[in-house]
Amino acid sequence: MNIEITDPYTGQRYKTFPQSSPEQVATALQNGAAYFETALQQSPQERAAQLLTLAQLFRDRQDELATEATHNMGKLFREGQGEAQAAANIAEYYAQHGPAFLQDRPYNIDGQHASLEYTATGIIVSVEPWNFPYTQVMRVFAPNFILGNPIILKHAAIVGGCAALFEQLVAAAGMPTGAFKNLFLSHDQVDKLLADPRVQGVALTGSEAAGRSIAAMAGHNLIKSTLELGGSDAFVVLDDADIPAAVEGATVSRLRNAGQVCTSAKRYIVRKEVAADFIAGIKHNFQTQILGDPSDPATTLAPLSSRSARDTLQKQVDAAVQEGAQIVVDGGAVAGTNFFKPIVLSNITPNNPASQTEFFGPVAQLYIVDSDEEAIRVANATPYGLAGAVYSQDIERAQNVARQMITGQVFLNRPSVGVPQLPFGGVKNSGYGREMSDLGILEFANQKIVVH
Ligand code: NDP
Repeated sequence: MNIEITDPYTGQRYKTFPQSSPEQVATALQNGAAYFETALQQSPQERAAQLLTLAQLFRDRQDELATEATHNMGKLFREGQGEAQAAANIAEYYAQHGPAFLQDRPYNIDGQHASLEYTATGIIVSVEPWNFPYTQVMRVFAPNFILGNPIILKHAAIVGGCAALFEQLVAAAGMPTGAFKNLFLSHDQVDKLLADPRVQGVALTGSEAAGRSIAAMAGHNLIKSTLELGGSDAFVVLDDADIPAAVEGATVSRLRNAGQVCTSAKRYIVRKEVAADFIAGIKHNFQTQILGDPSDPATTLAPLSSRSARDTLQKQVDAAVQEGAQIVVDGGAVAGTNFFKPIVLSNITPNNPASQTEFFGPVAQLYIVDSDEEAIRVANATPYGLAGAVYSQDIERAQNVARQMITGQVFLNRPSVGVPQLPFGGVKNSGYGREMSDLGILEFANQKIVVH
């Protein structure tokens, strides 16, 4: 089985990669295990310089990285450049702070001293999605490189070119063989890989379905997993909010990356006092998007990553409308292309499946509420809990709402973003575990006590 990549804008075949053979998988495991032994003898500090070199390569070659993302999954070229820089930021952050996060921690026991030492555990398999083909990988690779855990990457099939380029840059940075290996794997091959005793963990970012499958395999093999899954984030606008700022934040958060972001503002929850102004602003912004060639700087809304992604989204909208939702801002699939014009749906009742579903594209849900308490209730009435935002000029009031939201992150008066300094991850069906920050580097560390 070959990995075929179709350019989402042109519809033309772009690249083909052969699936990795059993021999290639065996070699990746051998090299990873050998590297693990070597890394145990080094200090994290010794690895930091190579990670800085990798960061610089991501900066220097941002145009090449962006071009590949555009042709693999349709990302706007300038968003691809931004993503290359964001990946570099993650690498630099762990090069600069990772060794300190892994410092021994002293403990006392009946007059004896003990220290908690953070050490590598073995090969970690990184299963990643196509929507941020570089940063998703870097979030797992950079901290684990400092720690000394080898990474085997199984990227989403449609971004095979981005995966291959990531591997090339790792080699160009002079990182040792075995520290990172990209393989083109089927789901069955991933299952087999997770059963190998040299593999000691799996980090997945992807859908709920993938999460259930990977977590079951990890459980069966008694290895640790982290799951970064979907979201249906609440974007709460209170009646004292700065409405132009809220409209701007809600637009950017829903439409960036063509709406294919796990922490996108998928549900606008707006106090009725300001709903008319808010929705007028959103309508204007949604209807003035420029759809076009993602390489053209004038384009503001890229095509979706695949024809099937476009069709799935349209089906979700149709099903929501069938169950009584109303279209406030009209749009939808553009015939013969992967484009999808932004839509806002309202009147979504609790028994409408849309209220429980993630829309992975430029479709926003609008809920108009009478009180802050109702806003919190609606925000929490979803199986997901990844991120969210609250807009209000009264910070104490916004914090009070944020405190009651069942989610992994809340941003006040700005849309949620993933930055290396902050822990990133969810609760409920959005998964478990944290990436980035000091928490991210400890997920796959052996926390070993040495008494002396
Ligand atoms: P998928 O879950 O389909 O794919 C994610 C990755 O998992 C791909 O590499 C895919 O491989 C692989 N995969 C899927 N099922 C299995 C399996 N049973 N065994 C082994 N590997 C598997 O998600 P999408 O690529 O469609 O990405 C979109 C989803 O990811 C959305 O739901 C989104 O919310 C979520 N997401 C979450 C993020 C977060 O940080 N929380 C960030 C970004 C996206 P293949 O391509 O070969 O099928």
